[in-house]
Amino acid sequence: MKVITLREGKERALLRRHPWVFQGSVAKGGGDAGETVRVQSHDGQFLAWAAFSPSSQIRVRAWSFDEAERIDAAFFQRRVQQAVAVRQRLAIDSDGIRLVHGEADGLPGLIVDQYGDLLSAQFLSAGTERWKDVIADALVAATGCPYLYERSDASVRALEGLAQVTGWLRHPETADGARRSTEVTIHENGWRLTLDVAEGHKTGYYLDQRDNRGLFAKLVRQFNCKTVLNCYSYTGGFSVAALEGGATEVTSVDSSAPALARANAHVTLNGYEAGAHTALDADVNSSLRAFIQAGRTFDAIVLDPPKFAPSAAHADRASRAYKDINRLAFKLLNPGGLLLTFSCSGGIGAELFHKIVAGAGLDAGVDGYLLKRLEATPDHPTTITFPEGEYLKGLVIVRK
Ligand code: SAH
Repeated sequence: MKVITLREGKERALLRRHPWVFQGSVAKGGGDAGETVRVQSHDGQFLAWAAFSPSSQIRVRAWSFDEAERIDAAFFQRRVQQAVAVRQRLAIDSDGIRLVHGEADGLPGLIVDQYGDLLSAQFLSAGTERWKDVIADALVAATGCPYLYERSDASVRALEGLAQVTGWLRHPETADGARRSTEVTIHENGWRLTLDVAEGHKTGYYLDQRDNRGLFAKLVRQFNCKTVLNCYSYTGGFSVAALEGGATEVTSVDSSAPALARANAHVTLNGYEAGAHTALDADVNSSLRAFIQAGRTFDAIVLDPPKFAPSAAHADRASRAYKDINRLAFKLLNPGGLLLTFSCSGGIGAELFHKIVAGAGLDAGVDGYLLKRLEATPDHPTTITFPEGEYLKGLVIVRK
């Protein structure tokens, strides 16, 4: 067993059950990529069993803080089973569920989403890469889902020294001897939504906004919103929500043509008139400016941009980008209209995001009631020891 010894004083994070050790905290020791190592304090006290990552700034990710625990196939079976069991108790009314949310589920670097009978997984750390086969078996056993697709094509893999990989990990023949496709239909808030685990973003879909999409449908009805602008719409989840809420003119803006094609398909698949929805393949910032130029306004606007700040180091530039789109959105909002505005940047905390949006309102000359604060669905949990896990934050604002 290889041993990693930390510098004096650097044991504190692991003692608080924070699962990461950065490169600068390691005094001596090493291992192969993903190898299980014993991490100890400068004076030899056991701290954790962990996966070693020779090329990452995060040199060590803890698997277990229990010295008696063995990191073997049974360990991964237990962790996966626990993650699945928690989701069952959450009683999520959908067949699209995040089953494993990395560090929060004691499996640093592993993301697994279930879409119907199909699992879609990202192995984002050297440790999860090393145990991939064992983890795949554990996932199939714990869920009964026979199909597992790998979407390890995230850029963070490069930081771990890992190449990008996609493809089936488990793909048995169907009863009629055929092979299951990567296309799947899920049910969310009573809607039918389709995705392709091979082609979609991340694992295929953004499950973290499920409850916020459901809430949006209710708010659109309650505030009698008719014209709705869904910015960064992806496949139109918030657009279908708007239609359910009684909107008559919904515009989805996204820079991905395949996502917009799906957004259009979702409108009719859920029984709404194709004519009630417009898909705009464009940059959001330019579209917002063009709408202002054209004198258009909306009863409700959703802003759900991609991660502008991957880490706190990018917070300044990202803050300006968030402020810009929020300022433009405020200008486009009818009095009494609704703004749902989000940030999924881990580097922008909830308090800072609130300040950015407040500044945007001030610049636009618009005031609003803060109706509600939003977060990710509970199947994307955070734990009390890992605040970095908190990433999605949103505000519901009603323009005065
Ligand atoms: N609201 C969506 C998820 C949005 S994810 C949902 O509920 O499913 C962010 C989206 O922003 C992606 O679909 C991506 O294609 C799009 N995007 C990224 N940069 C963009 C830009 N500059 N202009 C328009 N869309 C952009």
